[in-house]
Amino acid sequence: MKKIVNFYLEDPHLQQLIRHYLKEDLYLWADGELDEFGRMCAGEIDERAVHTDRDGQPRLIKYNRFGDEVSEIWVNEGYKKTVEETYNRGIVGYIRKEIPELGTKGNYLYSFAQGYLLSQTEPGFYCPVTLTMATALLLDKYASVEVKEKFLDHVVSTGEVELFEGATFLTERQGGSDVGANTVHALVQEDGYELYGEKYFASNSGMCGIAMVLARIEGSGSGTKGLTLFAVPWRKKNGSLNGIHVRRLKDKLGVRAVPSAEIEFEGAKAYVVGQKERGIYYMMEALNLSRICNATASIGIMRRAYLEAKNYTFHREAFGEVLAKYPMIKESLVKLAVMLFSGWQRCSIAPQMIK
Ligand SMILES: Cc1cc2nc3c(=O)[nH]c(=O)nc-3n(C[C@H](O)[C@H](O)[C@H](O)COP(=O)(O)OP(=O)(O)OC[C@H]3O[C@@H](n4cnc5c(N)ncnc54)[C@H](O)[C@@H]3O)c2cc1C
Repeated sequence: MKKIVNFYLEDPHLQQLIRHYLKEDLYLWADGELDEFGRMCAGEIDERAVHTDRDGQPRLIKYNRFGDEVSEIWVNEGYKKTVEETYNRGIVGYIRKEIPELGTKGNYLYSFAQGYLLSQTEPGFYCPVTLTMATALLLDKYASVEVKEKFLDHVVSTGEVELFEGATFLTERQGGSDVGANTVHALVQEDGYELYGEKYFASNSGMCGIAMVLARIEGSGSGTKGLTLFAVPWRKKNGSLNGIHVRRLKDKLGVRAVPSAEIEFEGAKAYVVGQKERGIYYMMEALNLSRICNATASIGIMRRAYLEAKNYTFHREAFGEVLAKYPMIKESLVKLAVMLFSGWQRCSIAPQMIK
């Protein structure tokens, strides 16, 4: 059976879009980068993704050998390599900072192209990437200079400083769609705020260096309008947990590469981002970005499914012919191709992001 060796080179439609929308110098650079990343996604990243999904899923190490709570998340070595290689290619970083070879920033389109290639093999890991993208957006746009200085360089790292992956924690047991029912609260301390309470579906727990969290400052109103956005480092400077306990990891049907957890804040040091009680508005902006990422990931998954199905029909023989020769098989493939193409069309990217 034909082996897919490079998701980028197999995809003239993607190459055409990149050429059409990116400025000349960025295009020339991105074309080479995506060629290499497309090969990696069809090669070593794909092999690691299979391992992560089947045998090497993240695990919670709740206690160390002395019986102390450590609430660490174990991930396999291949997954760590994929994390490092992907962020170092600027999937988050180059949206906000200069690409050294060009002296200009990248943009969301280049990042989404990477995300589309990555989602053809490891959509589970594209989830943390998008959370990190959202974290960078919120910090860059709304955080104070002091908070930005503490965290932003780490969130947009392409290898020069320690990477802090991001996370966005809204959901509570009683508050999923109904985020206004949230009860995680922030107590005022002499040097800032501390968070208390439980988050019920916290993706990238333990892997993130910093999480963007919605919480209610004591005395704030009820409902969504009483929520403030906080930046919460996962660990303190000395490496110990920042008043965060992981209760358990969710046993999910898919996207297994991302550890999604139930967590408890017990005095977690937290930094206000933006204006108090406007957290829901900031978070909604981040969720809008997630929507585009979700669409990107979805067409990545569709593309891989189509490629695998097509290649199989040219390999498998039945009744003396390869399946691809039979009219109903052709019809099925055409239907898949049309759905994929209309997915591409619907995934129209907000023009202000294509800069
Ligand atoms: C893989 C995965 C990762 C996740 N990661 C995170 C994360 O990192 N951070 C985070 O904060 N959350 C995360 N979540 C949680 C997710 O945000 C919630 O599941 C979501 O907000 C829905 O909340 P709920 O599950 O409590 O469903 P509910 O709110 O209980 O909804 C149940 C059903 O009722 C419907 N419904 C609810 N309200 C209405 C209404 N007014 N009208 C009509 N229908 C309605 C919903 O559409 C849904 O079908 C994750 C979830 C999944 C599956």
